[in-house]
Amino acid sequence: MFIPATESEMRALGWDRLDVVLVTGDAYIDHPSMGVSLIGHVLMDAGYRVGVIAQPSLESGDDISRLGEPRLFWGVSAGSIDSLVANYTPSLKRRRSDDYTPGGLGGRRPDRAVIAYANLIRRFFRNTRPIVLGGIEASLRRVAHYDFWTDSIRRSVLFDAKADSLVYGMGEKAVLQLAGRLAAGRDFRDVPGTCSIAKDRPEGAVELPSYEEVSRDDEAFARMFGLFCGAGDAALAQRHGDRWLVQNPPQPCLTTEELDRVHGLDFERGLHPSCGPEGSVRALETIRFSLTTHRGCFGGCSFCSISVHQGRAIVSRSKASVVEEARKLTEHPGFKGIIADVGGPTANMYGARCGRRSGAFACRDRRCLWPEVCPSLRAGHRQQTELLTELRRVPGVKKVFVASGIRHDLVMADAEAGREFLAQVVAHHVSGQLKIAPEHSEKGVLDLMGKPGTECLVAFKDLFYRLNRSCGKSQFLTYYLLAAHPGCTLEDMEKLKRFATEELRTNPEQVQIFTPLPSTWSALMYRTGRNPFDGSEIFVQKDARGRGRQKDVLTARARIGKRRR
Ligand code: SF4
Repeated sequence: MFIPATESEMRALGWDRLDVVLVTGDAYIDHPSMGVSLIGHVLMDAGYRVGVIAQPSLESGDDISRLGEPRLFWGVSAGSIDSLVANYTPSLKRRRSDDYTPGGLGGRRPDRAVIAYANLIRRFFRNTRPIVLGGIEASLRRVAHYDFWTDSIRRSVLFDAKADSLVYGMGEKAVLQLAGRLAAGRDFRDVPGTCSIAKDRPEGAVELPSYEEVSRDDEAFARMFGLFCGAGDAALAQRHGDRWLVQNPPQPCLTTEELDRVHGLDFERGLHPSCGPEGSVRALETIRFSLTTHRGCFGGCSFCSISVHQGRAIVSRSKASVVEEARKLTEHPGFKGIIADVGGPTANMYGARCGRRSGAFACRDRRCLWPEVCPSLRAGHRQQTELLTELRRVPGVKKVFVASGIRHDLVMADAEAGREFLAQVVAHHVSGQLKIAPEHSEKGVLDLMGKPGTECLVAFKDLFYRLNRSCGKSQFLTYYLLAAHPGCTLEDMEKLKRFATEELRTNPEQVQIFTPLPSTWSALMYRTGRNPFDGSEIFVQKDARGRGRQKDVLTARARIGKRRR
């Protein structure tokens, strides 16, 4: 069912007041892949009365007042994507479209959406119930951070939004505890998995260099970021003027059973009717008939925010739960027999675990896949192969695709099961092209990115095309590549172009210009011009034209001579 988004839907349920109102920068898509929808259903499952306000206008109080004032709290999210990433290209040009907005129209999600929505609420509800921030924008901006769009260090978004609490990471448990505390009239500021503002530093919290210090001193910023990433289960505190930003210890990850339960809730897998008349939402077409098998990523790529937000530990759903969801898809009136994707942040991390640390992926001083795949890592290709086989057998399912990116080094490191998995993917689960993200070819750049070398990539490519030939298919690999990452020069891009042409035999089309996302290692490199792992100076291309030129080196001839193997 849809979470109420209008007063009449609230009344139809016999509710005269909501406990929680969730405000989002996305259109209201009721689907387990959408954070606000997921949190809303989790709260409803626990007995709370919840409503959703999607993309409220900032011009008047009509939208934000639609469902009245909640009894417990307002939950505010920018949506599935940071609003500045959604609204601007890497060259800082305003985007015209937004994949999470009806009709694809840009401009419905305001810049710095969590701040804009928190201000909107305060404008029309004075002295209102607590405002709780969540979602990826708030999560990545929870402590002082580098902001590419103003080329400055900004303070925690909790101060700018003047909000009362911030849920970081995957928020189900934190949100339920917050709601429970508020319903019982208890203090909520120390709930694990949340940040709040305090007058004093809590005892035992690890102190980060202050916002003022990291704003003026890059070394302090680098030290701060190291402490932030290595915090583990500790509380953190960072002075901002005469107040403290306090990050409480994280919540434990959901268990497999808990994740199964969340995905088993009653999602519509559709766009709320109130958004309908303006046109379809592109993101929905991608996710509507896709299955999420796990959350988390231990890839640790320096430029990526997934492990900062979702965590490094993999939590996988049970096979039974995923298969049951596939069965339910077959009852959906719009389902045509095609499951568009089975995966997660990285497709082939389903079932993976750390063999040394009881699955916790807790090493603070090393990465799981770089510089090589850790021998303690237990890949889950066998379970994933079994899962895909079972999904193909679900009556009413004609095709099952793996469209999420595959981590090719993980496949190659898992000698037998990795190859069996790839053979099955090639035989049954590729929709013409399989995505992988080598990002670059040059060792210096790859090392800064935390990505594997080209030897493993070439071996994977050869295996992929060999498997294709052996089953009579003619599918191809799509390579995602990145220009202008810190440490990357024009010469590196020329070498990458040569490598792509001569070794990969492709004219790259999927080339992005690097954007420094808040709270990532690569943003730290971009800001400081140093390799944070050894302190050495690195070249950083900051000039917009220079960044564009790096991309042009790769894409100039992409229109000619398409996809040669
Ligand atoms: S032991 Fe290896 S697999 Fe486990 S967390 Fe550490 S680096 Fe990752």
